[in-house]
Amino acid sequence: MIYDITRRVTVNTAVFPGDTPYHPDLKLRITSGASVNLVTVTTTLHIGTHVDAYFHYTPDGAFVDAMPLEAYIGRAHVVTTTKPDGELTLEDLPPLPARVERLLIHSPISDLPESIFPETFPYPSAALIAALAARSCRLIGVDSPSVDRADSADLPGHHAIRQHGMVNIENLVLTGVPDGEYELIALPLKLADACASPVRAVLRTLT
Ligand SMILES: [Zn+2]
Repeated sequence: MIYDITRRVTVNTAVFPGDTPYHPDLKLRITSGASVNLVTVTTTLHIGTHVDAYFHYTPDGAFVDAMPLEAYIGRAHVVTTTKPDGELTLEDLPPLPARVERLLIHSPISDLPESIFPETFPYPSAALIAALAARSCRLIGVDSPSVDRADSADLPGHHAIRQHGMVNIENLVLTGVPDGEYELIALPLKLADACASPVRAVLRTLT
């Protein structure tokens, strides 16, 4: 069984305040005599469910085409927190196994409609990220729009993730996904000079 944990991207999908929304432009139309329909899209790369490249917050960080692919595929542990906003620590989560290769945090944010940008949301503390790194974690996924407070200037969560050799996924939708172990597949596009990529994120149940 497959769970699609991806936000739908529409013209109404909320983006960070000031960022570029999704805009599909039908440049050629079959109904106007063209042989094909041809759509050009203008959008922030941080649209809907996406991964951040290290370049997003580090001047000499990797572009998204050079991010480590193996981090985005494999065993993932889904946990639920009821905390609606603020910093998340280990104490806000159910007990974790000794090894957690990938952690996806399901919060109340998953239930918001795609058109709403939440002013506050939960995000992992640098201490939680360090505790996950100690459990061999490669990826942290959140349903929040960021792994830092929305108005954070120094982005401690983002930087802790890079310093530990981890990667992040933002804006997941984990509604209806029971806590537990899955296989995650969420590959970024091979975009040169890009700071992020939308992904189609899915969880496969383990057999
Ligand atoms: Zn982002």
